[in-house]
Amino acid sequence: MPISSAVIAERQTEAEQYVRSVYDKVVRRDPNEVEFHQAVKEILESLVPVLARHPHYIQHGILERLVEPERMITFRVPWMNDAGEVKVNRGFRVQFNSAIGPYKGGLRFHPSVNLSIIKFLGFEQILKNALTGQPIGGGKGGSDFDPKGKSDAEVMRFTQSFMTELYKYIGPDTDVPAGDIGVGAREIGYMFGQYKRIRGGYEAGVLTGKGIGYGGSLARKEATGYGCVYFAVEMLKSRGLSFQDSTVVVSGSGNVSIYAIEKAQQLGATVVACSDSNGYIYDPNGIHLPTVKRLKEVERKRISEYVTEHPGATFTEGCEGIWSIQCDIALPCATQNEIDEDAARTLVAGGTIAVSEGANMPSTLEAIDVFHKAKVLFGPAKAANAGGVAVSALEMAQNNMRLSWTFEEVDAKLQAIMRSIYNESLRAAQAHGDPDNLLMGANIAGFMKVADSMIVQGVI
Ligand code: NDP
Repeated sequence: MPISSAVIAERQTEAEQYVRSVYDKVVRRDPNEVEFHQAVKEILESLVPVLARHPHYIQHGILERLVEPERMITFRVPWMNDAGEVKVNRGFRVQFNSAIGPYKGGLRFHPSVNLSIIKFLGFEQILKNALTGQPIGGGKGGSDFDPKGKSDAEVMRFTQSFMTELYKYIGPDTDVPAGDIGVGAREIGYMFGQYKRIRGGYEAGVLTGKGIGYGGSLARKEATGYGCVYFAVEMLKSRGLSFQDSTVVVSGSGNVSIYAIEKAQQLGATVVACSDSNGYIYDPNGIHLPTVKRLKEVERKRISEYVTEHPGATFTEGCEGIWSIQCDIALPCATQNEIDEDAARTLVAGGTIAVSEGANMPSTLEAIDVFHKAKVLFGPAKAANAGGVAVSALEMAQNNMRLSWTFEEVDAKLQAIMRSIYNESLRAAQAHGDPDNLLMGANIAGFMKVADSMIVQGVI
């Protein structure tokens, strides 16, 4: 029997009140966790249409349970620097939700890391992982340790100390960390070595992002950046557009940025700018990627050094200005809240047609609103950057089967996954009355998978 419009309106009000009450409780409980509040607000508000249509999610208290991590671990990480001084950092692992599989999510080493940041990342990860269609739950971790300027020996001593505590809580069927900001191949290698040493066995599936020689997957390094571009390709296709001959700006020059630049260039775009935490470079002839790779991946130098080798390029101190460079496609791939309302307005005024988020939560809520109102194609992080964790899950699958797929095989699977994430997000957006809102679509599609699994598993 069709539902009357009065009942629909009543349910909508009920869903809005429910969302507000859960959000208010989150803020009341942990008033200082601003990043976590932002992520919760973004997700919860977009779920109103699905809660109104399926009120049993409210009856099962799904949102109250979803916003509370299953487990949070914080620990001391003592280590000694090269001068023989004792240093102490703080370690975190938030095991957020295991309804559809073992906790999965990266480790971030950056001085800004705190519980709020780890909780926002872990919360986003729940729905992102569900969207990939793979059996992985949501988690995240890290430390306020800054690898920048540290020697290899210091990084090794720190990561060994970190893993000496973390190993108790992780395992191939329990919780599988990976890299994130400040955690790349070097850090994963040291952590895997220490885990293996403590456990006394070779559990390859305990970490992903491993080196190819010891259980890593081909194309994992490229996956997040390539995936972010593949997602943008799908969005552009919906308007008969492509990367060919477009001008692209990519923020950051780390793992995600470098491979987003690479794929965009392969598809015929000119990438004119990228950045690091000190500032950005602008090269109107197109960024010379081998230089960026050498500076950032090998020599661990500052992006400003690029201009000494490429005199046609300029370096500007500070990161915000990068969004004033005219571009057709913007790929924010550095960090959270790097595009605010003003930056979004500047991009729109400059004619940007698509934004695909490689970083986690790089656009503020106000910026997203600007993009939606201007009908800019907007690929939300949890959909557009899910390629990294998707290939991490493929790495786990290869570890379980004790085999390895070729680069082309993994890349083909990645493309298929990104296409499917786009289609699922689009379908959910269409079904809930806002066909252009992929953010809402991605949240709803991921949420329904997790919520349905939570319901059948009982109140736990
Ligand atoms: P990296 O550490 O490899 O690179 C981060 C890059 O961003 C560096 O160039 C860094 O500069 C720059 N950066 C950091 N903070 C700022 C800032 N405040 N302003 C401007 N630039 C900044 O990290 P990743 O590439 O792995 O991660 C980047 C983003 O992508 C993060 O949001 C992460 O959560 C997200 N992500 C990563 C995935 C992965 O597979 N690695 C998967 C999904 C999402 P500097 O060199 O100065 O430090």
